[in-house]
Amino acid sequence: MPQGIAPRGRLVRRFVESHSEWLQTTVSETEARYQAELDRRFRAGAEVEFQGRRLQLVIESGGARRRVREGAEGTLIVQLPEGTGSGLDQPVREVERLRLEATREAVEAWLKRQARLELLRVAPIHLGRLGVEAKSLRLGNNRRAWGTCSGRGIVRVHWRLIEAAPELMEYVVAHEVAHLVVPDHSPRFWETLGRTLPDWRERKLALERWERAAE
Ligand SMILES: [Zn+2]
Repeated sequence: MPQGIAPRGRLVRRFVESHSEWLQTTVSETEARYQAELDRRFRAGAEVEFQGRRLQLVIESGGARRRVREGAEGTLIVQLPEGTGSGLDQPVREVERLRLEATREAVEAWLKRQARLELLRVAPIHLGRLGVEAKSLRLGNNRRAWGTCSGRGIVRVHWRLIEAAPELMEYVVAHEVAHLVVPDHSPRFWETLGRTLPDWRERKLALERWERAAE
């Protein structure tokens, strides 16, 4: 039985915001809401959450492929190849939409890369302290769980945790690693988690607060 840390608010909201959920509504309504959301979150000057900070998006043109890097003074610089979104007879609105879409893809790919690096940095610390091994460490995209640990030893954490402060992502990683030792949520589990993460209670509460915090 995989154990999950169930998201209460944030992830559920995020999911509702995502394109796929809107297929139930009319196409034009779906499209309009998606456009508004894309524009709100990925236009130049919008804020991207990263490790508990807010980075301001700067969009640049140039180069042969998309690049994303953290800039000075809390910026996230997205470089789109020259001419992204433009084509013959392309209406301006469509060019803008394609550029926003390209920005979203670039930012999310960058966040996933950072999440993977953080997972690979943090998990070995807790695996080592608890003296266990994971079969594999993976990023997840499960709307119902921030993290899971399968009976076969596969630890998964949701990539969006990279938006939260590092202590919160570490809590989820350590929690799932502790499930390699004790699969359920018995007192022995929390005692095990406490051996590798003594302040897990504070972090658990902070994760719940972060989840509830509205954007
Ligand atoms: Zn658990």
